[in-house]
Amino acid sequence: MEIRHVALVLFGGSGERFGASEPKQFIALGDRPMLVVTLEGLSACPDIEEIYVVAKAGTVQKTLDIVSRYRIPKIKAIIPGGKTRERSVYEGILYLREIGLPGNALVLVHDGDRPLIDPKVVKGNFDAAYKTGAAVTAIPATDSVILSAYGDKANRYLPRKEIYLAQTPQTFSFSILSSSFEHVAKRNRFDDFTDDASLVKSRGHEIAIVPGSRENVKITTRFDLASYFEGRRHL
Ligand code: C5P
Repeated sequence: MEIRHVALVLFGGSGERFGASEPKQFIALGDRPMLVVTLEGLSACPDIEEIYVVAKAGTVQKTLDIVSRYRIPKIKAIIPGGKTRERSVYEGILYLREIGLPGNALVLVHDGDRPLIDPKVVKGNFDAAYKTGAAVTAIPATDSVILSAYGDKANRYLPRKEIYLAQTPQTFSFSILSSSFEHVAKRNRFDDFTDDASLVKSRGHEIAIVPGSRENVKITTRFDLASYFEGRRHL
């Protein structure tokens, strides 16, 4: 492969909404920590060559110990994260710049708390990002969506047929990802964004949609564990 295919995986959150005594990436999903399930899933994807892990500051050594114990292939570095998701991505970008990752490399960003990795979705991300420079995994909404400024009354219903829910992975050419994040970093506007594609879109780049699936569960609270085990049976 001439163009490097890199994954940047985020485990920088505190997992407060999950309510465990330790960050949720260390809790067991069946017989292995969530961190291991996600990283093994990504590592098994033929389209991913190198994996860079962003860990919550203060958990870098613990993360390294686990990754070494399970001998997960393709892991190149563990990087301490930032205070918010987008700041954690930025820390990853700074590291990738430091090691001289070329601008034409494709970087797949993935939430560590989405452990059910579908290699077809990963491939779809790289293919789309190769063509357009930026791609987001998304699924059509099944609920109706209400816009409400204060949560007391419905200001507007959005047309459901046009609503898609963003997931990860989200994949970008490194030059686009890096320059978009730099622009936002200089203006200290990270808090305006909850995912990478919206940040890149704010710089005027076209974002291709790659179809995701309901099985790509994000484990935020304990209620999501049941969906994870159900999803695992279908993948
Ligand atoms: O905040 P949210 O639940 O949307 O987090 C999504 C992902 O971002 C998770 O994988 C989490 O570990 C990561 N994150 C991070 N650094 C933070 C906050 C969240 O890497 N400071």
